[in-house]
Amino acid sequence: MYSSLGISNEVFDFGEKILEKLKERFEKIDSVAEYNQCKVISAMQENHVNATHFAATTGYGYNDAGRDNLEKVYASCFHSEAALVRPQITCGTHALTVALSANLLPGDELLSPVGRPYDTLEEVIGIRKSDCSLAEYGVTYRQADLKADGSFDYDAIKAAINEKTKMVTIQRSKGYQMRPTFSVTQIGELIAFVKSIKPDIICMVDNCYGEFVETIEPSDVGADLTVGSLIKNPGGGLAPIGGYICGREDLVARCAYRLSAPGLGQEVGANLGIMPAFYQGFFLAPTVVASALKGAIFAANIYESLGLNVIPNATESRHDIIQAVELGSAERMIAFCEGIQAAAPVDSYVTPVPWAMPGYDSDVIMAAGAFIQGSSIELSADGPIREPYAIYFQGGLTWYHAKLGILMSLQKMVEKNLIELK
Ligand SMILES: *Cc1c(COP(=O)(O)O)cnc(C)c1O
Repeated sequence: MYSSLGISNEVFDFGEKILEKLKERFEKIDSVAEYNQCKVISAMQENHVNATHFAATTGYGYNDAGRDNLEKVYASCFHSEAALVRPQITCGTHALTVALSANLLPGDELLSPVGRPYDTLEEVIGIRKSDCSLAEYGVTYRQADLKADGSFDYDAIKAAINEKTKMVTIQRSKGYQMRPTFSVTQIGELIAFVKSIKPDIICMVDNCYGEFVETIEPSDVGADLTVGSLIKNPGGGLAPIGGYICGREDLVARCAYRLSAPGLGQEVGANLGIMPAFYQGFFLAPTVVASALKGAIFAANIYESLGLNVIPNATESRHDIIQAVELGSAERMIAFCEGIQAAAPVDSYVTPVPWAMPGYDSDVIMAAGAFIQGSSIELSADGPIREPYAIYFQGGLTWYHAKLGILMSLQKMVEKNLIELK
């Protein structure tokens, strides 16, 4: 089957040799998935999930039991007081925007103690000038950069905290940067430090790509708000849209008022028939995340063995599903993406090209042949066309699809003489 899909014997054998060394790591991933599967089932049992919760509501969506109960399931699973899980939250950026703008008022300051935030948040915050940014509403922003080795600069963080500091935003995943992703334990240490200086600071964690990679989540280590996208990990590949915010009851309530309207809050928002996908996707998420992690580790081991810089490296522990590979040239980025695209079940015949994308300040190339548009829990690769020409690879609803995609990315580079197997 691999040769009929276009993988040469040489590339296939290269992959098999790498895989032989990964058995133990794959077993560890499976045991985290097993733990998290039990955690999700337990949250569903605790909240008596039943068939009535899968019913569609329309209009205002008053008394939407399925929606309300799903939020309880998320809250149970994340061990948080409350949760907002909605199809009306259109993406991860939107979920983060709701959490920030609901809890920051004019005169307040937001601090990122982990350096520059994710590209799309620059416009949300107003780091790049943008209509309706937090800056326009009189919310200021400060940032403490990470040290050169990627660790927290506690002195700089302490110096940045002042009487205006209301909220701290901690991005777990590296995003489009080459810094390490933080473990949940590290995030807990950072939160404890921030609160030791000013206990009432609201600590928000951008949890995108991190859910179910470990057995604990930021909400287990003191995060007041934990935020993410349903077309990434927790949607399990089935959620067609959506975002979640888990956390303290009073803060989540404000998020609901911001999302709908003051006075309405969590009471409105019809589910439009989406509940089966939300529940079932959450149920599948732990094993989907495990598949994606196996793909990321396979890619790291392949490309590191070919002499490229990969982050995380071939052996280090994982805290999100993203694999960055510094390919060093636009040509290699394009070939890599062509491979991912060619291995997809959907749109396999199209050719990805770099393009300007809303929210990003350089051309971006994206490869995805997904059932859900832009879903990056499905096998996908993307990256901004700029130094160090790093591709960010993530997802894979099944490990076998992730494997095929990675082999195909290598195949395309080998065919174009952009890399040599050795
Ligand atoms: C994907 C992502 C976002 C934004 O999510 P979208 O759904 O693309 O809007 C924010 N932060 C991080 C770290 C992400 O990976």
